[in-house]
Amino acid sequence: MTRPVIVAANWKMNGCLSLVDEMTASLAKVELSENTRVIICPSFPYLASFASKQIDCNLNANIALGSQNVSEHEKGAYTGEVSTEMLNEVGVKYVIVGHSERRSLYKETSSLVAHKVAKVLNAGMTPIFCIGESEQERETGQTNTVLASQIQPVIDEIGIENFSKIVVAYEPVWAIGTGKTASPELAQETHQFIRQFIADVDLEVAKKVSILYGGSVNAANCKELFAQQDIDGGLIGGASLKVDEFSHICSAV
Ligand code: PGA
Repeated sequence: MTRPVIVAANWKMNGCLSLVDEMTASLAKVELSENTRVIICPSFPYLASFASKQIDCNLNANIALGSQNVSEHEKGAYTGEVSTEMLNEVGVKYVIVGHSERRSLYKETSSLVAHKVAKVLNAGMTPIFCIGESEQERETGQTNTVLASQIQPVIDEIGIENFSKIVVAYEPVWAIGTGKTASPELAQETHQFIRQFIADVDLEVAKKVSILYGGSVNAANCKELFAQQDIDGGLIGGASLKVDEFSHICSAV
């Protein structure tokens, strides 16, 4: 089973209109291998500008737009929230759900995350469902239990048959923005656990589901990480704000 290599950019609360211009211009020149999919997830205000630039620059069909979050509500009196319908209207195809910063800073629980995953799927977009353990959880041997407790609510909410329609992003919290990347061996071992956890419920779904690694991925370490058997690409924060480095990552894999 060949799964695509997915390179997703998580700009977080960074970037500006000129970065949208520079990134689209740069990506328009990048030669992507047939099996590579690139997803750019800027902040909400830049989604529509990215979508129109995408058309101007005649970007490769394998480059898609993603958002960093979405409301669990449909519409109405939810000041500051953005709905799946709005995201759909501006051309968003992927939505990051349950990033560790949302879980820790905005108190998103695993059940809320599962609900959002279902909402995104029902709206016809692909959730990039994030999971990961803290440093203390890894050091005390709880990694697998924590990951299982994050994955199970999503399986319960959407059903295993829909799990292959989502993208999983494993991001150890201790590796995010710290420069402390998990070694390829350690990342592979954890990805293997995640795939096996899913395989125990449904082997075919486990073979199909894409599992990305995130946490201090850069141009120097991406190749070795993405070459691991159970690593299907990356969710990239800091390095995705550097136009040349990100374009290099996209063309290197
Ligand atoms: P990083 O962030 O690449 O800056 O570590 C990754 C992420 O949080 O998605």
